[in-house]
Order: sequence, then C-alpha cells, then structure tokens
Amino acid sequence: MGNYYRYDAHCHIFTLKYVMKEVKSLLHDILNRTYPWKEPKVEKGLLGSTGKWKDLKNLLRQLYEIIRSSCGSEGENLDFLLDEAKKAFPNDSYRIIPLMMDVFYMLAYPLDKDEEPQMLKGIKAALVDEKEFQEAWNDILEDFTSYVQSQNTTLRSTKGGGGDVKIDQVLKIIEQEKSVKGTLTLKASGLKSADTLGFYHTEGYCYHMDKLMELVGTRSGQLYPFVAIDPRRPGIIDTLLSGSFFNGDARFYGVKLYPRMGYDPQCKPLDAVYKYCSDNSIPITYHCGMGGFPPGTDWKYTKYGNPENFEPIIKKYPKLRIDFAHMGSTDDTYKWAETVNRLINENDNVYTDLSCYVSTKELDPIMKRFWKDKAKLKTRLMFGTDFDVMYFTGKVTMENYYNNFKATFTEDELKMIMHDNPMSFMGIKD
Ligand SMILES: [Zn+2]
Repeated sequence: MGNYYRYDAHCHIFTLKYVMKEVKSLLHDILNRTYPWKEPKVEKGLLGSTGKWKDLKNLLRQLYEIIRSSCGSEGENLDFLLDEAKKAFPNDSYRIIPLMMDVFYMLAYPLDKDEEPQMLKGIKAALVDEKEFQEAWNDILEDFTSYVQSQNTTLRSTKGGGGDVKIDQVLKIIEQEKSVKGTLTLKASGLKSADTLGFYHTEGYCYHMDKLMELVGTRSGQLYPFVAIDPRRPGIIDTLLSGSFFNGDARFYGVKLYPRMGYDPQCKPLDAVYKYCSDNSIPITYHCGMGGFPPGTDWKYTKYGNPENFEPIIKKYPKLRIDFAHMGSTDDTYKWAETVNRLINENDNVYTDLSCYVSTKELDPIMKRFWKDKAKLKTRLMFGTDFDVMYFTGKVTMENYYNNFKATFTEDELKMIMHDNPMSFMGIKD
C-alpha cells in the first residue's frame, strides 16, 4: 500500500486578515446604506439601544473563535496541512480541497425557496464619512482587542508544528487592519484575480480569493479550491456562468455553498449554478451539518442545510456531482444522515464527507448505521479534516484526528475514502 495521492476533501485556508477585512467591508456598507438588510433601517438595527455595533462585534469574535491558526499566512497553513498528512501517511502524496468562505451576507435578508434576490428599493447610498467610519471601526476593534486579551485559549501555530501563537501576533494584525482607507478606496486597491471579474467586491472576499489563487499558481497540483457562491452577492452568479472562475492556470475546481448563511438551496438564482455545474462537470460541496458557523444547532438558518432541500435539484440534474458535507453532523437523531444515505442509494452522483468528526465516538455511529457490506456509501464517502475549524472543538490535534480515522477504518477503507472516492467526486483521472 502507498505511493498514491490522498485527498483532504474538505478543509479551509483562511486567516484572521480575511475576517477583519470582511467585517470592515460590512461596516462600510452599513454606513453607506447599501447593506441589504431585511429591514434596511440602520437606526433600528445595529445602532439601537442594545449597544453600538453589537452584531458586528459578535461576528468578529465568533469568526476569531473558529480560526485557530489565524496568524500564519495562507501558505503556512497549506504547508502545515501537507506536513501533518505526511506524518500520518509517510509513503504517499497529498492534495487538499480548500473550500472558500463567504460570510458577508449573514446579517442580510434571507433568501427563501423560489425567491429572487431583492433589489435595494428606496435605499440611497450615502457617501461614507471617513471620520465616522474610522470611529465606528475603532469602537469595534477596541471591543475585539479586549476580547482577545481576555482569552487564555492557546491558538495553534502552523509554523513548524509547534509553539502557540502569541497574543502579540494577533494584536499586530489588528494594528495592520486598523485603517479604513483601504476599504474606502477598494476599487483601486490592486485586487488581482477579482479585479477583472464583474461581481460585487468586498475587501475580505477578494483578499481570500486572491490568496487562494496565488497558491494555486505557485503550488501547482497541491490544492484544488472551491469558490464560495452566495446568491445575494451581486454579479457572482453571472461571473460563474461566464466560466472565469474555472479557466486558466489559477482557477477553482468546484463550488462551495453554505445555505446556513441565509439562503435556501432552491432559491431562484441558484438553479443556473446547478445547470452550469452539471453541464460542465463541476462538483458542488455544501454544508450539511446541523451545527457549523455561527455555532449552535438552533441558528435561525440551520433548516436551509437540510439535505431534503437538495432532493429536487438532484432529480432535475442527475449528472451533478454533489457532496453533502459533514453527513448531517451534530444531529443525535441521525435524521439528516439517514437522508444523505438514502439520497446516495437512490442517485448516481451523490457524495458525502466526514469532516469535523473529531473523535472515534463520533465516527462509530456512522460506521454502525451506514458502513455495511456492499453499502453504496463505500463508493461515496470521503475523508476531510475541516482544518482549521475542527480546532474549534478544542478536542483534537491534527495528529489524533488522523489517528481516529486510522483506528476506525482499515487501510483498504482509508484508500476508498481518501483516494478513490474523492477522485471520482472531483472527476480527476490520475
Ligand atoms: Zn468546513
């Protein structure tokens, strides 16, 4: 055994910089009065009596909490992932599938089944006053800084596999992102990949995208990123349909959907995405766990991730390759997992992954219930780490994450979930 490619079919490469830039952009659009609120009256929402910018402060804190290796660069995160995989399986080579994130619209209006994105009727952009913007951002950063200082949690460093990240490093990044000037002059900030594309730019999203594309350019064959599509981001679907994301040397290899951010997979604009992906053999991964970001199974948009919402889409586009990520995790009843398993059995191109299963105790019920002789799941289940979101649980290191899978699956089974199945999901031949 050995000497083949193993895939991490579900992980993330994002950093604290991305998070800070995106929250800053969010603040900009709120002040500019172009953020698509459900109830677009700023005074009643964020600036209400419950404290200034409470939602944004919470968002920044929550995002910080899920990003445990936030202080390194994207390249360092990639190296760390490759090194850890190498330690677990020294004879093989590795490829990783980082899923891009788009959190920008999580405070916006939700997009329901059969709905079109809303036009911002009656909203007039107000030129953002730099001083007001800077003051509001300072207020948010002050809150964030004291939060960071009050945390005793040790962040894991991706550098050299050791050492904890010092609070100082976090504070340095906060300092670097302090000025609002870059956000005010976003159009002229020299964005690379995103610059020529016609979708709505926010600083974090474009930064995140550029960093991934840089790595694809310089680390050919090591990573196969998926582009994050939120149907509420103006122009993003037209850009996707133009093919620009999937052509050229630095390109994406699939689409990431996160309905939990507030959209039903059956909303109107996504149909064109499914058709495009089906026609062009582009795989889709979508978040199918009851937990996730933001934390908690009672989050108001958890329901959008229900795998049943995707059944009509699978029926309409039977050739579409789709990964129901997390196999419906954080659900004690295993109802979502049952649905995923049923959809795999009844259809040809449905896959699932076990990312963020951080203990053998979490893996065992899946094995007992679904991993049986001749089960079709054996040809559809994929391994994923969910790096570095899995660190959030505080229960696991990369080393024992791999060890748990080794303790649960035989070597032949590991080959299925780490090699054979991801290859067929990705449509990669060698
Ligand atoms: Zn994930």
